[in-house]
Amino acid sequence: MEQDILNLINGQLQAAHGGQWLDNVEPATGQNYSRIARSGADDVEEAVAAARRAFPEWRAWSPADRRAVLMRLADKVAEHADMLAEAEARDNGKPVSVARTVDIPRAEHNLRFYASAAEQFSSESHTMGDGTVNYTLRKPLGVVACISPWNLPLYLFTWKIAPALASGNCVVAKPSEVTPMTAYLLGTWAKEVGFPDGVLNILQGLGPEVGQAMVEHHYVRAVSFTGGTATGAAISALAAPKFKKLSLELGGKNATVVFDDCDFDEAVSTAVRAAFSNQGQICLCGSRILIQEALYDRFRDAMVAKVSKMRIGDPMDPSTRMGAVVSRGHRDKVLAAIDTARGEGGRILCGGGRHQPGEPRLKGGFFVQPTLIEGLDHTCVTNREEIFGPVATLQPFKDEQEALGLVNATKYGLSASVWTKDLKRAHRFAAGIDTGMVWLNCWLVRDLRTPFGGTRHSGVGREGGYNSMRFFTEPQNVCIKL
Ligand code: NAD
Repeated sequence: MEQDILNLINGQLQAAHGGQWLDNVEPATGQNYSRIARSGADDVEEAVAAARRAFPEWRAWSPADRRAVLMRLADKVAEHADMLAEAEARDNGKPVSVARTVDIPRAEHNLRFYASAAEQFSSESHTMGDGTVNYTLRKPLGVVACISPWNLPLYLFTWKIAPALASGNCVVAKPSEVTPMTAYLLGTWAKEVGFPDGVLNILQGLGPEVGQAMVEHHYVRAVSFTGGTATGAAISALAAPKFKKLSLELGGKNATVVFDDCDFDEAVSTAVRAAFSNQGQICLCGSRILIQEALYDRFRDAMVAKVSKMRIGDPMDPSTRMGAVVSRGHRDKVLAAIDTARGEGGRILCGGGRHQPGEPRLKGGFFVQPTLIEGLDHTCVTNREEIFGPVATLQPFKDEQEALGLVNATKYGLSASVWTKDLKRAHRFAAGIDTGMVWLNCWLVRDLRTPFGGTRHSGVGREGGYNSMRFFTEPQNVCIKL
């Protein structure tokens, strides 16, 4: 065992009260390499009590002081970027090159972005004709819970805790039990950078145990959750009767829509990237590729040629571009989805099964071949349910109307990417799509000020920019008659 992954409660790193541990497995090897504190309701109780004690002082800090401490935490991330990238790659199975260029810089950027927001956030005032003035206070809520998933571990963890802290709340946060390492490492710097004890608490362990206890706790005023749709529904069922504020970022089944007037080469390479980045484990991945009939064969053949050349490798090798999927259970789920596609009559164009690497170190790893499937219509399970792995389907469409029907044919509404040189059509089509985000002639270009989130089964609420700051604050109108 290399390292125990501990809780951060009231400024102390500590094991769970129950003394229990979970295995932490390296996806590329299938071997345990550390152990995780398996926390429960007692640990939540202690963390929430610490956060409540810390709140009066923390909320009274000036925005400039809150900014400074978040910036110092960002500095720590920058200083330890290589170590964090290696930790993320080992914990998650993603290529270290991706962690180094995407996950860790982005986590640092999240912290800096919301550090600045602490100083720039403002509220409104409304004057009435008779000299009466209303002004809106934006008050921090108190203790809030942040629960994040395994696919972009430190990136999504910081995306939640940074605005929660910047707006003056005390946080009880939980990373996924599948990828707990980088959140733990971040927590080890909390005291040194100047967070008062109890302002940032990080609990480790299983969702239905410690996560549920966080959601249920009487003094937790809001829950910011990113994860699967079924988990989002379970959390809503617990939180709604207690009238907690809820932000839910859930699953997706996003379409990449390719019209026959697109920039062909750029559309092909981005469609491949959108389907297979991070082994297809990004909520925004384009897993349904809709192609206009006249272009279908050429586009499919170009995609198959590219995807067939993708090499899976050791995530820790800097030249690797495609690594392992996150866990044994997830690999089996993805393989079962490929079997379902076969059973539904899908034709496997490339991939279609496990990848067995030659290196002895990787023998027990969780690798899945990048897989493209055609011949399935929008009613098939394969085209309706999220797979969240390196699997994408291709479907032809005749015209704009049919394409729009297909884009909107699932219960999800997270994002879409549309490829056409006809800008009028692009704008018209974007407006007809029932998703929270649309990319025109690009994919995953992110401006952190913009609203991020989905419609329908992809979630409730928006993160990003002031949306997150508003979520983590309660507006109070004060009316004064002068
Ligand atoms: P998950 O729902 O299994 O777990 C997410 C987090 O919730 C983990 O920390 C887990 O421990 C916790 N959790 C599980 N059950 C809980 C419960 N009953 N109460 C409280 N907490 C609980 O999701 P995952 O498998 O880690 O992540 C993959 C999913 O996340 C995919 O569906 C993906 O689309 C989605 N996702 C969405 C976005 C987005 O922004 N919309 C971003 C990334 C991932």
